[in-house]
Amino acid sequence: MAAQPSDCIFCKIIQRQIPASIIFEDHCAVAILDVNPLASGHLLVIPKVHVNQLVDLSDSVAADVGRLLPKLGRTLLKVTGAAGFNVLQNNGEVAGQVVNHVHFHLIPRREGDSLGYRWQAGLYEDDQMRDTCESFKQALI
Ligand code: 5GP
Ligand code: ZN
Repeated sequence: MAAQPSDCIFCKIIQRQIPASIIFEDHCAVAILDVNPLASGHLLVIPKVHVNQLVDLSDSVAADVGRLLPKLGRTLLKVTGAAGFNVLQNNGEVAGQVVNHVHFHLIPRREGDSLGYRWQAGLYEDDQMRDTCESFKQALI
């Protein structure tokens, strides 16, 4: 079951009930330093509305939060001196989501940082790619 705002760590941060290093705030989101960073300057961009996953966000909030990512990414590169960064967004326990309040990770990357990024990629068999493409197109009508 999804966490309710009263027991949600990110809602508590947004409401200033527990401390956090808030580097940015506007009407729709906060950006904070991750308390257990994968690299110095690892940010979490957190919509203020309490919803569990990306699919639960309204178009309007998604657009407002999405607009922040380039600016925060540019700022992260400037402040950390990183050569690049990953945007990571986990949905569901199976995908590694631990905090059930939708959020985006911005993870600074440096040459030789050993964080890795390549997953085992596969291949489609026979008509599977065409069928999958058709299924998506039908579902989106
Ligand atoms: P998830 O696995 O859900 O995508 O990532 C949750 C992230 O939230 C983790 O990287 C974790 O370190 C971070 N986190 C969890 N609790 C807190 C907290 O109280 N403060 C901050 N700043 N980050 C937190
Ligand atoms: Zn929440």
